[in-house]
Amino acid sequence: MPWKRGISLKTPEELAIMREAGRINARALAAARAVIRPGVTTADINAAAAEVIRNHGAQPAFLGYGEPPFPAVTTVSVNDELVHGIPGKRKLREGDIVSVDCGTVFEGYVGDSAFSVGVGSISTLAEKLLRVTEAALEAGILKMVAANRTGDVSAAIQEVVERAGFQVVRDYTGHGVGRAMHEDPQVPNYGQAGRGVPLREGMTIALEPMVLVSTNETAVLDNHWTVVSADGSLTAHFEHTVAVTADGPLILTLE
Ligand code: MG
Ligand code: MG
Repeated sequence: MPWKRGISLKTPEELAIMREAGRINARALAAARAVIRPGVTTADINAAAAEVIRNHGAQPAFLGYGEPPFPAVTTVSVNDELVHGIPGKRKLREGDIVSVDCGTVFEGYVGDSAFSVGVGSISTLAEKLLRVTEAALEAGILKMVAANRTGDVSAAIQEVVERAGFQVVRDYTGHGVGRAMHEDPQVPNYGQAGRGVPLREGMTIALEPMVLVSTNETAVLDNHWTVVSADGSLTAHFEHTVAVTADGPLILTLE
């Protein structure tokens, strides 16, 4: 499933299917969240999400994605790992923060969302990072209305993050989503209000602030997937798939 060029506007019928894909994805993430505690492996987290998708008769969007093909249903990223961590034998420890990203395909449409959470008790800095990253996502969602442009969304995310003294990623962006997991437009986590693509009813965009404590530079590990902060600092990631509708922003990836 490569990046699909061109912006597709979804009909109300398509949005209803995407809402169902998003709901299943949210349930998968809830199951993943429920197993997170010290001693659990990142593979255990992945298995919990995978079971939910399977039980709903849906398909995982990440499994086999890209090159080399991604080998799991979720990405699980710990501490300095920002996104795209490969689930495996790593055991979570008290004080870690873990980000879980998942994609579900239902009746041909994709739901894409992610959360980050602390493992046991975490540092004050880690708590602030989680709070700010989630607040940045909420600020972006509020800008998902038809009179705005993508730059309004980007600028709102950036402002929340930088006002808190943190950094937004440059190398990875939010994105349109629909029949393909990645569609136009790209929605960076930084930008200028009033610029970019005009938002229209029926657009569906995965907003995903990726936030780093002390750098905006990233590196990719030798496994070709895992993206880490260049300086080893903590990172967090929250994501929702959101539709622009006549009634305002509609979050598709809630339970
Ligand atoms: Mg995602
Ligand atoms: Mg995404």
